[in-house]
Amino acid sequence: STPVATFCALLRAARMGLLVKGGNVLESLGEVRVAAFDKTGTITRGEFSIKDFHVVGDKVEMNQLLYWVSSIESKSSHPMAAALVEYAQSKSVQPKPENVTETCIYHGEGIYGVMDGKQIYIGNERIIARSSCRHHQHAGHQETDGLKGVSIGHVICDGDLVGKFSLSDTCRTGAAEAILQLRSMGIKSVMLTGDSAAAAKHAQEQLGGVLEELHAGLLPEDKVRLVRGLQARHGATLMVGDGMNDAPAIETSHAALMSGDILRVPKAVRLGRRARRTIAVNVASSV
Ligand code: ADP
Ligand code: MG
Repeated sequence: STPVATFCALLRAARMGLLVKGGNVLESLGEVRVAAFDKTGTITRGEFSIKDFHVVGDKVEMNQLLYWVSSIESKSSHPMAAALVEYAQSKSVQPKPENVTETCIYHGEGIYGVMDGKQIYIGNERIIARSSCRHHQHAGHQETDGLKGVSIGHVICDGDLVGKFSLSDTCRTGAAEAILQLRSMGIKSVMLTGDSAAAAKHAQEQLGGVLEELHAGLLPEDKVRLVRGLQARHGATLMVGDGMNDAPAIETSHAALMSGDILRVPKAVRLGRRARRTIAVNVASSV
């Protein structure tokens, strides 16, 4: 009967680490026509390496800058934060998060902290505007430094740009394959990211251009809006994310895949399709 078929399908889902809020969610997984992927930590590993880190102006010295940045970033769980803390340690600078007196996390932008009485902002172009940085126009200007596809970070201290850095990440193994499998199942994949357009394009190149759309520079709420738009246009929509910084988009989801193996995404859709078929057959045979 239908309840038994649903139960078996849910059991199979649970075994692969897929938690589903009810059997009908599993069936709608089988109806998915579009998949929206978060970039950092989902398509990519979320393991950044620092390509460049330099002082801007003569207000602070390198060690001071590394000390502030690593101490404040110790308060963040963002993958970029971990890379910055590690970088400082590799330069023999020990972060002291206990000396940070105030912090505020700006999702999709960066982090703010007070240290040694200084107000320090670390993050992308959006954080520059927030910090009311005096060199606003120059600071946000992305100079071509020969490094392709990197994410650029800024450090602003009491309204002055005092540091700049660039980082890059690599794609997960299986990401391109997972997206190709989805494509062969008639599902189009798009990327949603809070990171720069350059970083989004770089990931797309690493994947061999398998994504159909790239949306960069998004805030968490922009991701929700885009997912809703995809839903309106295509129906059942899959949002694939690591949950980091994506609480608004993830909390509203009906299923969670508790696995780092991205190839389980097409597998979950196949499971959903099979569940639908089984149920359809059962319904037909009971008529
Ligand atoms: P994604 O959508 O790729 O997961 P996020 O929304 O997590 O990206 O972050 C978007 C951007 O905000 C990052 O690419 C980075 O520029 C900036 N950012 C976020 N958190 C931090 C942080 N702790 N330190 C520096 N920059 C940050
Ligand atoms: Mg993320």
